[in-house]
Amino acid sequence: MQRDVTRQMIKRLLIWYPEHARDLPWRRDKNPYHVWLSEIMLQQTRVEAVKDYYKRFLTALPDIQSLAEVEEDRLLKLWEGLGYYNRARNLKKAAITIMETYGGAFPQTYEEIRSLAGIGDYTAGAIGSICYALPTPAVDGNVLRVYTRVMEDDSNIDKQSTKNAVRDALAEVYKGLRTDRGVEAEKEHPAGSCGMATQALMEIGATVCVPNGMPKCEECPLSAICGAYAHQSWQDYPVRNEKKSRRVEDKTVFLLACGDKVAVRKRQSKGLLAGLWEFPNVEGHMTKQQAADIAAEWQTAPEQMQMNYNYTHIFSHVEWRMTAYYLSCKKLAEPFIWVDMDELDQNIAIPSAFKPFVEVLKKGQSN
Ligand code: SF4
Repeated sequence: MQRDVTRQMIKRLLIWYPEHARDLPWRRDKNPYHVWLSEIMLQQTRVEAVKDYYKRFLTALPDIQSLAEVEEDRLLKLWEGLGYYNRARNLKKAAITIMETYGGAFPQTYEEIRSLAGIGDYTAGAIGSICYALPTPAVDGNVLRVYTRVMEDDSNIDKQSTKNAVRDALAEVYKGLRTDRGVEAEKEHPAGSCGMATQALMEIGATVCVPNGMPKCEECPLSAICGAYAHQSWQDYPVRNEKKSRRVEDKTVFLLACGDKVAVRKRQSKGLLAGLWEFPNVEGHMTKQQAADIAAEWQTAPEQMQMNYNYTHIFSHVEWRMTAYYLSCKKLAEPFIWVDMDELDQNIAIPSAFKPFVEVLKKGQSN
């Protein structure tokens, strides 16, 4: 029964997709570098936000060799604002492996693709099916939501066993697509049937059976076979673990300006935002006087405190509640690197958590 519904589901999606697919830059060819890069960027980031990053990244690093050779600071600057910077570091690591182990040619088997740094089951499945027509589904939250709603399946989607079961059910249908319709489908769609099935599942989850709010069942090609639609039970699926509440951390950020320079420093090489740049900061919320004392201890010879500013940044497991002080200083003290605003804009990768303070510094510098 489930097997038939899964087959029906894919069949309907393959008819629906060519008419309804959004025209996205990374869908215009089957170049594995392009598909890989887009899939990594799209993890945790909205499609609209990724478009500019994707274009900029490929202009700077047009092929795997240039990615393998790029300096880390330049790489992180290209990734600035996307978050989860280990994704960028893993891209480079994998590019080096491709150059050294595969002579610069992207590997073509699921196992080889899966073994590259930063590539998990989902991304390997996506690259395998889209670029090489392999029967390897890509199962992420979107796909699990659609699948469990159609089947009214109350398995917990945070469990690996559920992901594996959905992947195996889809893979069985994918295998049939390859043998029955492979050549024909290649003519119909550049990604072939397996690739098109993967992209169609992603598309229906992103645009119709949406993650937040009511699904658009009236325009869904799966409504005739969807259990959740038949019983108006979409709110019951998917079943997930309860979310843990976030840890709250208070911080005081120092926006230290000396002439046309501002102070930055590199974060430690391990932990959250590892190896990225930041504005000097300490744990806890300091009063103005305490902040001035700390700046003096750093030998920056603070003169004037011009403003303060509060900002909360939310990561997946932790929330930073930050108070910032803008301080005019007389000394370019050693614990920091001092850069002008042009250098800050062009060469220093400031993560989103500290990004709003760049505007505060610019405003302070122009006064
Ligand atoms: Fe989702 Fe509605 Fe389509 Fe079912 S019919 S898959 S609930 S959008």
